[in-house]
Amino acid sequence: MNPSLLQTPIDYLKGIGPNRADILRKEIGVHTYGDLLNFFPNRYLDKTRFYKINQLQRNSAEVQVVGKIVNIRTVEQKRGKRLVADFIDDTGKMELVWFRGHKWIRENLKVNTPYVIFGKTNWYNGIFSMPHPEMELVEEYKKNLRTAMQPVYPSTEKLAKSGITNRVFSKCMQQLFIESGGKFYDPLPADLREELHLLPRAEAIFNAHFPKNQELLAKAQFRLKFEELFYIQLQLLMKNLLRKKKIKGFPFDEVGKNFSEFYEKHLPFELTNAQKRVIKEIRQDLGSGAQMNRLLQGDVGSGKTIVALMSVLLALDNGFQACLMAPTEILATQHYNGICELVENLGISVRLLTGSTKTAERKEIHEALRNGELHLLIGTHALLEDKVQFKNLGLAIIDEQHRFGVAQRARLWKKNHLPPHVLVMTATPIPRTLAMSLYGDLDVSVIDELPPGRKDIKTVHRYDTNRLKVFAFLKDEIKKGRQVYIVYPLIQESEKMDYKDLMDGYESIAREFPMPNYQISIVHGQMKPADKDYEMDRFVRGETQIMVATTVIEVGVNVPNASVMIIESAERFGLSQLHQLRGRVGRGAEQSYCILMTGHKLSADSKTRLETMVSTGDGFEIAEVDLKLRGPGDLMGTQQSGVLNLKIADIVKDNDILKTARYHALQLLKEDPNLELEKNKVVRFTYSQLVKKKNIWNYIS
Ligand code: ADP
Ligand code: MG
Repeated sequence: MNPSLLQTPIDYLKGIGPNRADILRKEIGVHTYGDLLNFFPNRYLDKTRFYKINQLQRNSAEVQVVGKIVNIRTVEQKRGKRLVADFIDDTGKMELVWFRGHKWIRENLKVNTPYVIFGKTNWYNGIFSMPHPEMELVEEYKKNLRTAMQPVYPSTEKLAKSGITNRVFSKCMQQLFIESGGKFYDPLPADLREELHLLPRAEAIFNAHFPKNQELLAKAQFRLKFEELFYIQLQLLMKNLLRKKKIKGFPFDEVGKNFSEFYEKHLPFELTNAQKRVIKEIRQDLGSGAQMNRLLQGDVGSGKTIVALMSVLLALDNGFQACLMAPTEILATQHYNGICELVENLGISVRLLTGSTKTAERKEIHEALRNGELHLLIGTHALLEDKVQFKNLGLAIIDEQHRFGVAQRARLWKKNHLPPHVLVMTATPIPRTLAMSLYGDLDVSVIDELPPGRKDIKTVHRYDTNRLKVFAFLKDEIKKGRQVYIVYPLIQESEKMDYKDLMDGYESIAREFPMPNYQISIVHGQMKPADKDYEMDRFVRGETQIMVATTVIEVGVNVPNASVMIIESAERFGLSQLHQLRGRVGRGAEQSYCILMTGHKLSADSKTRLETMVSTGDGFEIAEVDLKLRGPGDLMGTQQSGVLNLKIADIVKDNDILKTARYHALQLLKEDPNLELEKNKVVRFTYSQLVKKKNIWNYIS
């Protein structure tokens, strides 16, 4: 097809007047013919044929199968019971599943009687299942009319109101195919298409809109998803390559005194294999001559700090300074104290700079930084102030990256003639799939192993009405010498009410746990930093047994003797936050507990969040659920929402395709890093078009 035809404004399409064109633009971002062609059905109804169970495809289309039920059973699972029926035909077995209305269904299902079932199939653990199938006895089915396989386009209220129905979409697509003669250039190189047996693009597009049958639909979807993900990966990888080529970094090729001495004499524990692997990855980066830009992911308590410290020692050994930036004053202070203790005998100079550092000390620090006497500066945002000038900053470490904006990261760069190496540490596990897509241009290291001897944190959900029992449990724990966190939500929009909740809670806790037997600390966002520190300190030193706080303690705080985390109004927290909070306990040798308190009224999503917390402690698993509940945009925070504006692929479900796409993009770039080969001409062209369009890569590094 003539490429300019794809650029034709949608207003010109037969059947679309100015009003409809306006709605298409506003509602679904369709501006041109090309946009419309890439607006795909999100499901398909296929009553044209019957499928044998061994013909089912993993494409989530809705299909019809004839067979019979041979067995019905109830299965207990975390989220309540479900009813499962084994359904067979002469080619195999699948499962029918119901989550609701068990009794009625069970009573009405006929065993060993032929049924026609219709619905969406899922593929899980090696078997197809169909949740809540439409079912009809074959005998009755025979009386009904059959319709053709039908695409169903996503709709919105406004689309529906203005008459842009499914039929209209189908007609428009037909018109587009007529005008274009169904010919589109193929942006994937021929050798790749052959290797993966991909449909040509034109055929794929046609079958996505007018599937001839299930097999072609599955192939069409695979081809289009692959293409979409391939180009995302290609761009991220290209960007990464360019960065490595263009942005020189200080080569740290020495492993000197600090690193070796620390490793041999002062390491307080044996490193886990994951820690060793990650340190190796970082050392490779630092020695490569290119600037390191690495994301270090590790669940809470996986031991990122020691990795950070050892990277710092490498920087110092090579004659450079380093800084470590944390999102809160409490955290920065804790890093400072912990690291000072670890490097006590190394004779390196470490200072702390935060918003509450006194002017005189501040001046001293500035001076020592400039003349190079100060080796490692730890602090908060205060590190980003213009007055903070390093003599030779070689490594910048950022803890808990999600709190810092991209712009802030960039500001650290300006502090030297070459950019420092950057290590971003996050304890909010980003599902690997998403990390690959969003951070394909960063290198990612993962600590996927906890230090040995960690006990699982017992997590339970309790209703407010059981508060007295919970208090009694707390008293027992405190009697045993343990400490306890009680956390209240604090969300910007309702700050006043939250504050009142916190204070009411504090008062009732103070009544229940009276002095002098009990000592309580309180920390919240409206306190002066000095007061916060004082209260926090008392808790860290064990002078108080209870810490009542808002989420300011969310990240990083380390008090190994604390064994209970109570989260009030737990339904108001997001999953990653709950997981972070829970990570504050379970840091010592004792069995730890996390108690999620809520009222009785809970939304479906809240319930899922609570159930997830109760059933797993694995941060990555939690992140996957979070991703499913909230979508990638929300997960990353508003700055990055909408970044992954995917047309057809699903970042969660199409994980396998994503991996394949990434692999092939990598291979292609290995062979042809500048896209110069004749066979990759289409790739070069498509890439240049995409770069022109200002796609995702402008947002994310
Ligand atoms: P996070 O990844 O959450 O920042 P930390 O670095 O704070 O985790 O480590 C959590 C705790 O585990 C600390 O008390 C630390 O001393 C300890 N730790 C870290 N690595 C190991 C290890 N390999 N063996 C034993 N304990 C470790
Ligand atoms: Mg940490």
